[in-house]
Amino acid sequence: MAGSESNSRPNTHLKPRTGTVSSTGVKAMNRFQGKVAIVTGAGSGIGQGIAKRLGCEGAKVIVDYVGSPDGAHETEEAIEKAGGEGKVVQADVTRLNDVECLVATAWDQFGSADILVNNAGMEKKSDFLETLESDYEQVMAVNLRGPFFLTQAFVRRLRDAKKSGRVINISSVHEDMAFPGFASYCCSKGGLRMLMRNLAVELGPLGITVNNVAPGAIETPINKALLADKPKLDALLKNIPLGRLGEPEDVAGLVAFLASDDASYITGSTFVVDGGLMRNYREQ
Ligand code: NAD
Repeated sequence: MAGSESNSRPNTHLKPRTGTVSSTGVKAMNRFQGKVAIVTGAGSGIGQGIAKRLGCEGAKVIVDYVGSPDGAHETEEAIEKAGGEGKVVQADVTRLNDVECLVATAWDQFGSADILVNNAGMEKKSDFLETLESDYEQVMAVNLRGPFFLTQAFVRRLRDAKKSGRVINISSVHEDMAFPGFASYCCSKGGLRMLMRNLAVELGPLGITVNNVAPGAIETPINKALLADKPKLDALLKNIPLGRLGEPEDVAGLVAFLASDDASYITGSTFVVDGGLMRNYREQ
């Protein structure tokens, strides 16, 4: 999510925080006691925030990562500090074998799984006319093919065990909104939107809900370039009605709601968490 043209609103950087929050920044509740969650890309950013939130609310969490395991271990430690249980697993969501092993680990380690959060994602900036086939393939493989086959592996297990479940995809405001310079990213997130809608219909009879969470501009490593570009960042902030970037915890709260019993009748929808940006977007 990159910057856009400024307007005249003051940059207030509001950071409302309510309720009792633990040292991990997570409200102490036990909504997910007895549940098992798989979170992809849980070693950084939004995925880390989601894994911590579900884990600190009682879920046992499979903490997926690729590359360096440091962030994933940090996630696991935070969960364990809050009295929960995590299991770090290296799995590249673009590889079918890894994806099957990831699901198998949940069953081997914790006996089953209830919640899948398809969070892992990436973007590559390039004008449409300059986009390389290899970059297009990589973005689509991580952002769309990964969730497709991981959800398939997860749901096959649920079906065999006659269990209900929750699938939550982290898409983006760009599942709906154009983002010049990021055509493949938009294709992947738009595809994720239709995958979610289709699966909500196909998997409803199995008692499995499928929803998307669409973040706006969240302060995470994926936005490293934007965060380092003050003029662009300031212009973007002026276009966010709530006057600040989102934090992983803002997204995690919504994911926790969708994974909870309170959301048992919700399927086939996208929920935007963007501080109002989509309603106030101006072209870059
Ligand atoms: P991030 O870069 O911190 O997180 C992406 C994670 O995905 C990383 O941990 C990375 O290691 C992991 N990943 C990448 N390729 C993978 C693979 N092949 N297999 C397994 N894991 C892989 O950035 P983030 O902002 O936390 O992104 C999380 C999700 O949120 C992404 O899907 C992203 O598109 C989406 N999103 C982010 C924003 C934002 O402003 N930060 C906005 C909209 C959507």
